[in-house]
Amino acid sequence: MSDAELLVVGGGPVGLATAIEARLVGIDALVVEPREGVIDKACGEGVMPGAGAVFGRLGIAPRAVPISGIDYRDDRRSVQHRFARGPGFGVRRTELHRALLERAEQLGVRRRAARAEEVRSGEDGVVVRTSDGRTLRADWAVGADGLHSPVARALDLAVPEPARGRRYGQRRHYRIQAWTDLVEVHWVADGEFYVTPLADGLVGVALLARRGIRFDDALARAPRLRERLDGATPASGLRGAGPFRQRTRARTRGRTLLVGDASGYVDALTAEGLRIGFAQAGLAVQAIRAQDAARYEREWLATTREFRVMTERLVRVASSPLRGLVVPTAARFPGLYARAVERIAR
Ligand SMILES: Cc1cc2nc3c(=O)[nH]c(=O)nc-3n(C[C@H](O)[C@H](O)[C@H](O)COP(=O)(O)OP(=O)(O)OC[C@H]3O[C@@H](n4cnc5c(N)ncnc54)[C@H](O)[C@@H]3O)c2cc1C
Repeated sequence: MSDAELLVVGGGPVGLATAIEARLVGIDALVVEPREGVIDKACGEGVMPGAGAVFGRLGIAPRAVPISGIDYRDDRRSVQHRFARGPGFGVRRTELHRALLERAEQLGVRRRAARAEEVRSGEDGVVVRTSDGRTLRADWAVGADGLHSPVARALDLAVPEPARGRRYGQRRHYRIQAWTDLVEVHWVADGEFYVTPLADGLVGVALLARRGIRFDDALARAPRLRERLDGATPASGLRGAGPFRQRTRARTRGRTLLVGDASGYVDALTAEGLRIGFAQAGLAVQAIRAQDAARYEREWLATTREFRVMTERLVRVASSPLRGLVVPTAARFPGLYARAVERIAR
């Protein structure tokens, strides 16, 4: 006897989106997630324009502010591009999660407050042992359990990454009126600060940098951003995540599919984690509906190729002595910069 047609491990945004997609096509879904209620996470909280259509399909409308484009800047110059296809959004993670939780509930997604501890996945179904002592059986499972996915590791799908060059993210919110409708990316000596307007009087600041760089030290060495934030009070504690880079050797094992960060991640530098994760949620459910795991593997590769290649290249430059040339080059070749921004805006 099966406990669910689809068992989703991880109730972050991509796990909930998967469960919602499943319910929208009549598949019964159970989400296993140890954290109850609305979940916060270190994130730049910029949602690219393409994800707007996904919000419509999922039937959610989180409280958000429109983002018109991306502004790369260093200590001397700034280069801006406004999205051609309409705005993206600055969305507080808690608002996004609340909207997804409510929609999931409305559609009858079942939830269980537990951690998946053991996963076995074969051609006939999936068995998951949870931290509350239950053994759950499902026809299909989706691992949406984030960076360092326990599901990917349990199924021997995770590939260990070298320690060298690891990058991490940290974020803090500030009470201050946004001074721009763009996401500002400040390329400073220590890393990249992402500044995202999130609500009336609330701005998110995320730092992407290598291990050991302290947020406040990096901010102290970022005079243009420090001036902007002068007098603003922090509205949240510092929260971190990483290392970013996670590789998987395949995205399926038996009847389990990996989605979101669990399926592999490069870096937050192109702010595409949510857009890509939501796309994977839709593809995974279509493959499950067609009873065809191999189809998901093919579509995962095709859908993420550009993100993987482009982000990898940018991270390589950002981690090299050439990083100081990124903003000057973007300013010198605005057409090239515009094309790059339009690609991630999809
Ligand atoms: C600093 C920073 C800035 C970023 N900026 C952006 C940005 O601007 N735009 C963007 O689109 N993306 C950004 N990202 C990336 C984005 O945050 C992720 O891509 C996104 O959160 C992925 O969602 P997810 O649901 O796959 O994973 P998560 O949000 O990590 O959710 C995974 C869930 O799985 C649960 N879980 C873990 N283990 C288990 C288990 N054993 N059993 C059950 N549940 C489990 C966790 O509790 C968690 O709730 C950023 C990331 C960082 C760190």
